[in-house]
Amino acid sequence: MDSDEFKRWGYEIVDWIADYFNNIEKYDVKPNIEPGYVINQLAQNPPENSEKFENILEDFKNIIVPGMTHWQHPKFFGYFPANTSFPSIAAEFLTSALAAQCMMWQTSPAAAELEELTMEWLRQMIGLPNDFTGVIQDTASTATLCSILTAREKYSSFNINTKGFSGDEQFRVYCSSEAHSSIEKAVKIAGIGKENLVKIPVDENFAMLPDELEKVLEVDIINGYKPLCVVSALGTTGSTAIDPLKEIGEICKDNNIWLHVDAAFAGSALILPEYRYLLDGIKYADSFVFNPHKWLFTNFDCSAYFVRDKEALIKTFEMIPEYLKSAESHVNNYKDWGIQLGRRFRALKLWFVIRSFGVSGLQEKLRFHIQLAQYLVKKIESEKDFEILAPVPFNTICFRYKPAGVVHEEEINKINENLLSKLNETGKLFLTHTKLNGKYVIRFMIGQTNVNEKHVSEAWELLKSESRKK
Ligand SMILES: *Cc1c(COP(=O)(O)O)cnc(C)c1O
Repeated sequence: MDSDEFKRWGYEIVDWIADYFNNIEKYDVKPNIEPGYVINQLAQNPPENSEKFENILEDFKNIIVPGMTHWQHPKFFGYFPANTSFPSIAAEFLTSALAAQCMMWQTSPAAAELEELTMEWLRQMIGLPNDFTGVIQDTASTATLCSILTAREKYSSFNINTKGFSGDEQFRVYCSSEAHSSIEKAVKIAGIGKENLVKIPVDENFAMLPDELEKVLEVDIINGYKPLCVVSALGTTGSTAIDPLKEIGEICKDNNIWLHVDAAFAGSALILPEYRYLLDGIKYADSFVFNPHKWLFTNFDCSAYFVRDKEALIKTFEMIPEYLKSAESHVNNYKDWGIQLGRRFRALKLWFVIRSFGVSGLQEKLRFHIQLAQYLVKKIESEKDFEILAPVPFNTICFRYKPAGVVHEEEINKINENLLSKLNETGKLFLTHTKLNGKYVIRFMIGQTNVNEKHVSEAWELLKSESRKK
């Protein structure tokens, strides 16, 4: 493909993208297809010779797109969003054109400086104290791993990086029983062992019980364990529960334990001043992560990781082989701020999004999603055969259908499980589930970029009529 052809196809692709968004509601949110549907339609061997671009694009339209789950569909109410926006898409075009490796200042000075700047913007936007410094990671999973590794190194005087485990460390990590699976993954990878991840019970709102944390710590310390890190959730994945940061922070301070805040999804809400109270206790935190790639209109991947002691982070990850030595000092060489060497230019899309929406534009969108959630809460509450099973501090509602006369929990679970799969098979919406206290709950998350009241109310009407169908 030469540049003239690229222009022609480029315009065509831009048209396709704009039309895709204009017509997205014509697609089933999740395709009703069997495994193998896509692969069986494609050539099983790589083409020996060049294929016409128009054929490739046709196959994309006819085979790939029908096999996609449409995360940008306004009736995508599953999991958490991975939303995007036109400014973000535009920036991704440019990022892929520059195709730069952003591992060091020298390899892309603008990328390094823009990452520094956009992380500082984000820090101000969410109200983190000004001694936090940010770096973009691919995912919250990676950020949490970086956090636990940094804690491990700081508490072992950087000895495990050098000598490996001696066998006497006996580190332990703590999180609530509702915490995200990425914490267990990080504990496994960091060599701490998943048996040394202690899951602290939660209260009726699914938030960690600090008294229980304190009790467990006391016993662990007597038994010779070294409490390394507590992960406090600001918005759990199941129900967006909020662990009491201040109480947990005080316990961490008293016991000299690293405190990591996992705000992967809900951290975006901190751009709203009315949610800033959630940062009460942030002064005790060592690290904090949230994902603009979830609920800030910046397409995956873009996870904002903030640390208080950036030297400890760098000391944990820094590698300077001869072939990567460079002369500048006082610049950010982000390869030393995490796991990957090669890095994408992810700050560009964040910069485009923040400038394009403006902080007030972003705030408006988030407030609208939160209002829509309250609108749905009222509708659910007004129906006797539905019940909401967790508080709704943001835009995710956990509820279930509970028809009169059905009392056995297992039966109610089964009814809701069947209901969810029937609903998703219609293609008219997409919802996912979790379990809270053994109860199967449907999660209704309202965070897609272009979702509005009509989408929510249509989905709710469908849900009601499907559930009551005999
Ligand atoms: C989504 C989520 C994660 C994991 O996010 P990735 O960026 O996909 O790794 C971690 N913690 C919480 C609370 C989440 O909601």
